[in-house]
Amino acid sequence: MVWDLLIRHGQVVTPDGVRRLDVAIENEHIVELSDELSGAARETIDAAGLHVFPGLIDAHVHFNEPGRTDWEGFDTGSAALAAGGGTCFFDMPLNAHPPTLDGESFDLKLAAALKNSRTDFALWGGLTPDNLGHMEELADRGVVGFKAFMSSSGIDDFGRVDDLTLLRGMEMAAKLGLPIAVHAESEELTSRLTAEARGEGRTGIRDYLDSRPIIAEVDAIRRAIAFAQETGCSLHVVHISSARGSIEVVEAKHLYVSNQDRPLHVTGETCPHYLTLTADDVVKLGAPAKCAPPLRPDDQVEALWRQLLAGGIDLVASDHSPAPASMKAGDDFFRVWGGVAGVQSTLASLLSGRHTIPLEQVAKLTASNVAARFGIASKGRVAVGNDADLTILDAAASFQLTRDMLLDRHKLSPYVGRRFRGVVRRTIVRGHTVFLDGKTVGNFRGRLVKPARTARSEGRAAHA
Ligand SMILES: [Zn+2]
Repeated sequence: MVWDLLIRHGQVVTPDGVRRLDVAIENEHIVELSDELSGAARETIDAAGLHVFPGLIDAHVHFNEPGRTDWEGFDTGSAALAAGGGTCFFDMPLNAHPPTLDGESFDLKLAAALKNSRTDFALWGGLTPDNLGHMEELADRGVVGFKAFMSSSGIDDFGRVDDLTLLRGMEMAAKLGLPIAVHAESEELTSRLTAEARGEGRTGIRDYLDSRPIIAEVDAIRRAIAFAQETGCSLHVVHISSARGSIEVVEAKHLYVSNQDRPLHVTGETCPHYLTLTADDVVKLGAPAKCAPPLRPDDQVEALWRQLLAGGIDLVASDHSPAPASMKAGDDFFRVWGGVAGVQSTLASLLSGRHTIPLEQVAKLTASNVAARFGIASKGRVAVGNDADLTILDAAASFQLTRDMLLDRHKLSPYVGRRFRGVVRRTIVRGHTVFLDGKTVGNFRGRLVKPARTARSEGRAAHA
């Protein structure tokens, strides 16, 4: 037996803890995990002193291809993901053009991703008032779920769901065995507060932050939970910005589906920027730190950390949402493009946060919980039989992020200049090295990952 790849002497981060193990890889899979493997391999990596992590699965990115490749694109987006230790991403249905709202647009995006992505990927479908009749064809093609905006999406070709559309979309998603993911902010509150502020000429950074208060998030999350209870739909709340929002999700895990003897399946995601940056940082950094929901005051960031440390957050995703510099400029902060371009810095942010998280928990938040939640059985854990998606990390080393280290297209990260712990040395997708010591390597191209769809009666079998 000659393995394709043998990684020796590394500290392997498994769900059960960190252990000194050798990892043997054959045919793109992990085939052996043991204290000491002595077989021959075509390539051997000495990982002494380094950690072997499951590759990050980023459940929330906007790579904007096809149609707006000048904003990012799969090539540069996946390169930056890999530089941050990522081996798989889930691309959101909007900001590419056409948005992923039917089978035809799915096929266009899939072709572009197969051609240009350096890592594996899954695709989200969208839910808007116009595409209820296309959800089934999207499910058949393998979308990981359906994303809906409860407040204006900021882009004309992706409509906000009104309450009835959300309710009907959830009914359909429940039938299809797929989750609905919601951008949860109240349109009523945010649009009125926005109109008021702009009408009075208050268009600065603080005015923008004040127009999207935490109650707007809490209100929308509660409504989404009520609809999920009503329909039995599996619900995922993306980019939760506040502890109060997260608590709504945690408490809903104890609810039951209306008139059925099964628990609600609901999960919550937050992003590195809600844990790393505060409202004061938006004032200092300006456009690169603008996002919706917005960054919160320091005491709220601390409260969100407490939720994370207590296990109240299911997963952390980047919500990488870049745009050209020309769209990140202007005096009216409401008009500046919102979106944080942080796809490269998720792991570094979690390893360098204001509180220490055990490495096993970092691996859960960025890999195993993501795979379990979305039914991706072959990924997310360093385990025999799984895809050989691995990140080799020097956890003891630190670095200062400079613009030239960033591999995304526009390099407008709010983290430039920050010091981080944990240097990604190598990223491996299904046994193929795609990133090594600061550079992308090889011509590997990723493939579409499809979820296992849960039958309606299975309840929360995939609960993370
Ligand atoms: Zn997003």
